[in-house]
Amino acid sequence: MTDVLAATTMSTATDASQAGFETATSSAPQPADAHVATPLSDARSQLAEAVGLLGLTDGLHQMLATPRRELSVAVPLRMDSGESRLYLGYRVQHNFSRGPAKGGLRYAPNVNLDEVRALAMWMTWKCALLDVPYGGAKGGLAIDPREHSMAELERVTRRYTSEILPIIGPERDIPAPDIGTDEQTMAWMMDTYSVNSGYTVPGIVTGKPISLGGSQGRASATSRGVTHIALAALRHVGLEPSRSTAAVQGFGKVGADAARFLVEASVTVTGVSDQYGAVFNAAGLDIEALGDHVRATGSVVGFAGAEPIEGADLLTLEVDLLVPAAVEGVLHDGNAGRVGAKVVVEGANGPTTPAADRIMRERGILVVPDILANAGGVIVSYFEWVQANQAYWWRADEVESRLEERMLSAWQCVLGYAVARGLSLRTAATALAVERVAEAHKLRGLYP
Ligand code: GLU
Repeated sequence: MTDVLAATTMSTATDASQAGFETATSSAPQPADAHVATPLSDARSQLAEAVGLLGLTDGLHQMLATPRRELSVAVPLRMDSGESRLYLGYRVQHNFSRGPAKGGLRYAPNVNLDEVRALAMWMTWKCALLDVPYGGAKGGLAIDPREHSMAELERVTRRYTSEILPIIGPERDIPAPDIGTDEQTMAWMMDTYSVNSGYTVPGIVTGKPISLGGSQGRASATSRGVTHIALAALRHVGLEPSRSTAAVQGFGKVGADAARFLVEASVTVTGVSDQYGAVFNAAGLDIEALGDHVRATGSVVGFAGAEPIEGADLLTLEVDLLVPAAVEGVLHDGNAGRVGAKVVVEGANGPTTPAADRIMRERGILVVPDILANAGGVIVSYFEWVQANQAYWWRADEVESRLEERMLSAWQCVLGYAVARGLSLRTAATALAVERVAEAHKLRGLYP
């Protein structure tokens, strides 16, 4: 609690209506720290590489490295017990050059401003790469949702939403679920925004329940997109999915459905982990039964149809495909030399540090970057926003075929760019995205 109070005094503004957000136009990009890699230093070093490749000016580099707008909020929560607690929250809008800011809201105890800045930057590149008409944003609240009742989560979500109200909106910044948040969180956000507006505004968030204007196929969209890309990447390196094995790190919103869809596509998923441990079965895990076990116990640990392994060992299993689908920085210089997969498809945002990227490239491992591999979520978020704004709903098969078409055409585009220039898929994807954002910025010009 001391940390929370100290940080609040230093840098937060609780009343955004009093110009409580800081614009960051004068702060130059911080040099990436060679010793302590963080998601932000990783994101900035990826940007620097793309900027060098594209020959962009220093001025443009500075703008792209720095969020356009940041809001830090102190969010008080009245607990069920009657006591009150304070949580720090953020909303970072990295870029608006191509449209409203867009990105998820993360609830996790270690969320901090720099992490949210990195995640917001990656959203800008992801939206540009997939050609959805958005800039990038991200929100975070430093809270462990597992420690709270539904009533407490509702109160803290409504208070956080009301604190960021002045900078969000269906044409400004559209939140969505991320780690620790779900469609119920989005329903509370939508209601809070709507009550304050005086009318129902379904386009304010995506990832809502279908009965409130959510889209068919949104809940599983990230996992479906990961699967489309994984199958394309396996075939690209000459591996037939039905004769391939896979390991999935994370059995949450992205990993659980990705494992299920991979099995449906005849891939043998031999290993799965979550934050509590990992399980392995050389003959292939029964993902449906594993899902039942997780629903009953809260973890993959103790699943009868597999042997237990160390969570860290999941990342180095000898498999064809590895899908890191948890958090940032899990593949680093300490384990990248031992990754046993031939293809890595990033279901999480930022799971690979630049050092690990280099090591895996030297080892001939194909890494499909997050901004391409996990873009299915924001693609269907875009479809949801379009449907909500038009009040006209698409069928599930329409959503899914449009998602597949966008994922595979982005895959072809990134692959072609990478092959033509001898680049890694990450550098190609980042450069393509940065080029599109830079072009929009140049066409709009600087005001005044
Ligand atoms: N949180 C997801 C992501 O990181 C989805 C964001 C969105 O749909 O706006 O891509």
